[in-house]
Amino acid sequence: MNVDDLRYEKYTTDEEQKFESICKRCGECCGKMDDPCENLKKRDVDESFCAIYPDRFGQRKTVSGNTFRCVSIRDHITQQTLRPNCSYRRFI
Ligand code: SF4
Repeated sequence: MNVDDLRYEKYTTDEEQKFESICKRCGECCGKMDDPCENLKKRDVDESFCAIYPDRFGQRKTVSGNTFRCVSIRDHITQQTLRPNCSYRRFI
C-alpha cells in the first residue's frame, strides 16, 4: 500500500467512526419500544447495543418471533424510515 492509499484508508475509517458516533444507542431503530430484535441487548437503562453488530444486516427475528430485514442507517436515511428521536434525522 502506498502513502496515498494509507491516507485514504485512514480518512474513510475516521469518517466512518464520526458517522457511527452520531448514534446515541437508544435502540429505537431495533424495536426497543415495542418488539425488539432478539440481538438487541441492554448496556444500561438508556443504552442498548447489537450483539452481532458486524454481521447484523439481513433477515432477523424479534423476541416475539416476527421476521424483519436489518438494513443500514444509510438505508433508513434514504428511505426516510428513521425513528422520530433518531439522532441521524439531521441528515434528512
Ligand atoms: S434510533 Fe438512531 S440514535 Fe437510536 S440506536 Fe438507532 S440509529 Fe442510533
